[in-house]
Order: sequence, then C-alpha cells, then structure tokens
Amino acid sequence: MCGIVGAVAERNVTAILLEGLKRLEYRGYDSAGLAVINNSNIIRERRSGKVRELAQAASQNKVYGHLGIAHTRWATHGAPTQDNAHPHVSGDIAVVHNGIIENYEELRHELTTQGYVFVSQTDTEVVAHLVHRELQHTHDLFAAVKKSVTYLKGAYALGIIRASESSRLIAVRKGSPLVIGLGIGENFIGSDQLALLPVTNRFLYLHEGDMAEIYRDEVKVYNAEGQAIEYP
Ligand code: GLU
Repeated sequence: MCGIVGAVAERNVTAILLEGLKRLEYRGYDSAGLAVINNSNIIRERRSGKVRELAQAASQNKVYGHLGIAHTRWATHGAPTQDNAHPHVSGDIAVVHNGIIENYEELRHELTTQGYVFVSQTDTEVVAHLVHRELQHTHDLFAAVKKSVTYLKGAYALGIIRASESSRLIAVRKGSPLVIGLGIGENFIGSDQLALLPVTNRFLYLHEGDMAEIYRDEVKVYNAEGQAIEYP
C-alpha cells in the first residue's frame, strides 16, 4: 500500500502530481506512474524505480493536462515492473489504486470471459475493466464507479479519470487512506495531506466507504449509502 495523488486545476497539474509523489516517497515504493487528460486522450507515463525517473520522462515527453492522477506502488500482486505500475487503463478509463482487491481472481475470470484482455498481473486492473464495463450500461462515470465498487472485496483507495471528461476526478476510500485537498478554483486528492501541502492547507478527510466527485470549483461527497454529505 503506497501513495496516490490527483488534481484538477486550471493550470497544468503534472508538477503538482510529481511533487505530491515525491512527498509520499517516505512511505516506500517500487514503481511510479501518472496519467493526465489532454485533448480527450489519456497521456500516461510509468517507471519502475524512482519518482525522479518518472519526472524526467514526464518532462522529456512534455506531459501536460488539467486533470490527472499519480501513484507510487508497493507491489502486492505482480512484480514491480513498468507494465504492472499504475495507472491502469481500460479503454478511456485510468485508475490508480492503493490496497488489495481480495476477489480479483474471480473478477479477472469473469471479465476475461466477457472479452477483456489483461495486460498486467495486478489485482488493480480488474477495477479499470469493471468501470469500463459498467460505463457501457450507466453512461455516467460516477454511477459506473459506484456500481463497480459493489463487486470489490478488500481495501481500496481509488482515483479514477476518463479521457472524455477533462474536469472530473472520482475518488473512493475504503480501507486505505485518502484525503481531499481544497484549493481556490482547483482541488486535489492525496493518500496523505503531506502530499498536498504545497498547494493547499484545507483538507476534507473522507470516511470509510465515501465516494467523491471532484471538479475545479466543486467537491461532492457521498457516504457508503450514496447520500450526499456536508463536510465542515
Ligand atoms: N495491489 C496493487 C498492486 O499490487 C496496489 C498496491 C499499492 O497499494 O501500491 O498493484
């Protein structure tokens, strides 16, 4: 279990994501990655090894976007390779995950029989494919994530984005920590508030089972029963 950072802003979020990951390095990790949305495409960089190497790759390839998610991985399922590094992608969906999906084998089997092709050994990839599958029925990212988590057993903090939506970040917290950082005209997620201190000092701590829809100017939080909740 390691680190997640996410951001939606008017400015380019790549530097915010990378600085956040550096601040989470103390937790230990074996690989790192990020994805941003640019022109309705998912731009992804991943490296086994240090955040420094990821930062070099992001700068060389001019990774730019106003919405993004990033991850440091402590491998639990699958070797610490670049292919197993997060974010994991299914079609237009990108996912970062901290924790363990305990029933991933049965989900993997089910999704494979439905035609999904797995390209990593991680438990996390089932989440990306589940959200993609549910999106075909619900046509709404939040509804698709909400339905997908009902299939999951285990511990998960999730950050999820979609190529066609350049201003919405979905976050879920169950069994792994996740906080929301509130900025002015920009908002963030992080597995630890420390990751977000350069950009805000206002935080909203998600409770177990909470899900959030995060936009530049708005944060909506729902409890495990799906009721909208007001946070102080
Ligand atoms: N279980 C996932 C994996 O092995 C996430 C590990 C983590 O929390 O970093 O990829």
